[in-house]
Amino acid sequence: MSFVEEKIVSEQLGICAKIKTILEDRYGDEKPGYYIQTLGCQQNEADSERMAGLATLMGYRAVADPEDARLIFVNTCAIREHAEKRALSFIGEYKHIKDKHPDTIICVGGCMVTQGHRADRIKHSYPYVSFTFDTGAIHLVPGLVLSALRGEKRKFIISDKYEIAENIPTARSNNYMGWLSIMYGCNNFCSYCIVPYVRGRERSRRPEDIIKEAKEMIASGIKDITLLGQNVNSYGKDIEGITFAKLLKMICDLEGDFRVRFMTSHPKDASDELIEVMASESKVVPHFHLPVQSGSNAMLQAMNRKYTREKYLDTVRKLKAAVPHVSITSDIIVGFPGETEEDFEDTLSLMSEVRYDMVFSFIYSPREGTPAAKMDGQIPHNVSTERMSRLLKLQDEICLERNSRFVGETISVLCEGVSKNDPEMMTGRADVPRPVHFKGDPSMEGKILKVKITWADKYSLRGELV
Ligand code: SAM
Ligand code: SF4
Repeated sequence: MSFVEEKIVSEQLGICAKIKTILEDRYGDEKPGYYIQTLGCQQNEADSERMAGLATLMGYRAVADPEDARLIFVNTCAIREHAEKRALSFIGEYKHIKDKHPDTIICVGGCMVTQGHRADRIKHSYPYVSFTFDTGAIHLVPGLVLSALRGEKRKFIISDKYEIAENIPTARSNNYMGWLSIMYGCNNFCSYCIVPYVRGRERSRRPEDIIKEAKEMIASGIKDITLLGQNVNSYGKDIEGITFAKLLKMICDLEGDFRVRFMTSHPKDASDELIEVMASESKVVPHFHLPVQSGSNAMLQAMNRKYTREKYLDTVRKLKAAVPHVSITSDIIVGFPGETEEDFEDTLSLMSEVRYDMVFSFIYSPREGTPAAKMDGQIPHNVSTERMSRLLKLQDEICLERNSRFVGETISVLCEGVSKNDPEMMTGRADVPRPVHFKGDPSMEGKILKVKITWADKYSLRGELV
């Protein structure tokens, strides 16, 4: 495990104070705005909250419209080509803001610009971008902003140095639900995936740092904590005497009215010990996100997933036996190189057997530098899209069936606020990964309530307060 030296972090926090003075001189009492465009996974959302924490400490204020921001972050994703195209389109869109307000600092972070060829493209094709920084360099943002404010040379940071930086301030985007990163990086090298190349090797935060942050979150009123990592259940492999299951139990033992979830789990690391903690601890939400990627053993092997269909189904069986009301969700890739019709049908039959509450399905997207991008048997797009539509049709049927099981049941719901579509209705978050709508008023926001479910479709549940 390696940590960014405390001295470096406190130097950067000291730079925030310098920036604050510069901003006060430049903008007077009216704090300039900051805006963060986040793409990609929950890990990126958690990273954006640290960028927000630093921007706040520098003396910027959050604004809802990038036009009003004098500091704009684009936090990019590289998982599929589509995500990279979206990031480039946001960066292109912000040029007119820089033209109108030349004092605007536009910077790009995240997985896309941790790849050298992408950082180069930003450098040459987007000259109005002040700096880029890799996923391991968020703590260096204050120094980079200072240098941009002083009009110094543009910087493009790819440090290749993946360390844990503690004590970076966090500005959370939700008052009741919060991300808690417990580890970073990934060692699995699934053959299609760019993550290990852009987020470095697995490194676990110290349990005492995680517990401290969890206590702060609970004290601040957060009721729903999600423990985050690319491969969350391999937490602790680099620390003596701790496993993910033990950490989860330690968090459950904290005082307070809260519940805890975790993602993402790799099926090969979903241990019996973890299933036992899930079964015995009432604070653990009975939802297990267990991405299978494919139901075919040939594909799983080509993907380097390190489990078989049989082993996966065995884990699902154990989970369902130990946690009878568990919701299981998954990620599935369609059209991986070499996927035959039979391989794809194996995926459909696995879905029918597991009966997922929800599936995030993706058409395979070749990623430069990964082994799968060079594999024979790349699947034509029309074949992948046809398979995808069959997969979605099946999953829609399963979703409706799974959601319908709640009709007549009373479940706990964390009230998030007034529904976007109906001012008389409130929206909340239940154990099941689906929104729940019910009649109520804004005083209920942030409370965990009992709701009797009266109606379900494939996307949501509706009910009445008990
Ligand atoms: N670490 C997690 C895991 O092992 O399942 C999730 C990582 S990734 C952010 C989320 C999902 O993106 C993966 O589970 C996979 O289904 C999908 N994904 C990753 N690389 C992909 C690619 N090249 N093409 C299509 N989907 C991809
Ligand atoms: Fe990517 Fe596989 Fe690591 Fe998940 S486990 S982040 S899919 S390499």
